[in-house]
Amino acid sequence: MAYAFTHVNILNGTLSPEGTMVPLMDQTVLINEEHIEAIYPSEANPTQNLCNYEVIDLQGKWMIPGLINAHAHLASSGKAPKKGSKPPNYKLLFAILSKIAPVRSFILKQQEKRAADELYSGVTTIRCVGGILDLDAKVRDKINKDIITGPRLLVCNTAVSVPGGHFAGSLATEAHSAQEAAEQTERIIATNPDWIKLMITGGVMDADKTGEPGVLRMPPELVEAACRVAHAQGFKVCAHVESSEGVRVALTHGVDTIEHGARTDDEIMQLFRDRHAALICTLSPAIPYALFPPEKSHCLPEAQINGKIVMEGIRDNAQACLDAGIPVGLGTDAGCPFITHYDMWRELVYFVRFCGVTPDFALYTATLKNAEILGIDEETGTIEVGKAADLIVCDTNPLEDLTRLRNLAFVVARGKVFANPKPRKILEVETALDEELYA
Ligand SMILES: [Zn+2]
Repeated sequence: MAYAFTHVNILNGTLSPEGTMVPLMDQTVLINEEHIEAIYPSEANPTQNLCNYEVIDLQGKWMIPGLINAHAHLASSGKAPKKGSKPPNYKLLFAILSKIAPVRSFILKQQEKRAADELYSGVTTIRCVGGILDLDAKVRDKINKDIITGPRLLVCNTAVSVPGGHFAGSLATEAHSAQEAAEQTERIIATNPDWIKLMITGGVMDADKTGEPGVLRMPPELVEAACRVAHAQGFKVCAHVESSEGVRVALTHGVDTIEHGARTDDEIMQLFRDRHAALICTLSPAIPYALFPPEKSHCLPEAQINGKIVMEGIRDNAQACLDAGIPVGLGTDAGCPFITHYDMWRELVYFVRFCGVTPDFALYTATLKNAEILGIDEETGTIEVGKAADLIVCDTNPLEDLTRLRNLAFVVARGKVFANPKPRKILEVETALDEELYA
């Protein structure tokens, strides 16, 4: 339970005033139980008695904080849609599974494996933003009780939507009125979540019209009612929003983090500031729709047009927030088509490529910045004495090439050490994404 990682170069998650992550070369990191006990230059105290530690000589490898995926769904795998297939009838599937206990146990097991895949890919914290019933909380509690292996989970359980809204009737309940939105929020709080999730606008997959992927579906008074109940009981609210009107309604009525985002204007930027709200940028879900040829994405032409609009909106919102000093976090939207539970490193690569940030800034965003936005920065997000031992180890400096994060030498999650971690891979998705990445 106590480890000494010796001769390791550390990128600790913080940025210098110049905006770079300055490495600490040739360090020793002591881990005791769940926490980081000490960090010191390996040469400074070569005689330190490490006999109570399992010593792991890292011989010049590189250590960074465990990644935080601020937006994921454990309910699905991220497989590519089949050719010519329509999106599944989630509502019907949900109606069946909610009545059959063995099906629920099967899905719970799948979710547990996906959480482990995230961990083995270097993600030591996930925020789950919309799931089936209270299954996400069940996975979280089993991990916390050491019954299964997995990352730290912050969960919303099921979300609140409206009839005909995003994932209504499957990953979200359907509120018909402000009163119902308040009642459903109360019921979700009774399932012991960490955050509350609202589905305020539509998305790429459920748009009625070409050119209108993020149409406002949840009336403002419902947003307000849900946020009021959540805030009164100490919960923050995140919301799926993919249009400017949606962002305006969300921020005016109490939402704390905008998920995805859309094109901004001065008024929207002021709303972000007034509410001290943050944006969670998710480029991964837009990539297949917007950039893949249809024969590869297997999406309909209208979904491709909508995907392009969403991608531009996400990019515009992220860049505007970065310019204005508004907090921007990162999440993958794992579980959506072509987004697996082991691809957080791709989101960092996309953040550099499409939003123009440096690799140092992308790594800082996926670690310390995400921890701050999620309110867990006293516990995790940097490599510091007293914080949780949430770390990953790469053979070489990942800032020289972020794609090096796809192969890790070690993952350490709350002090548990995993050597040569291997998530399960979905080859078809892997190939499709790599073709785009390396094109
Ligand atoms: Zn999502």
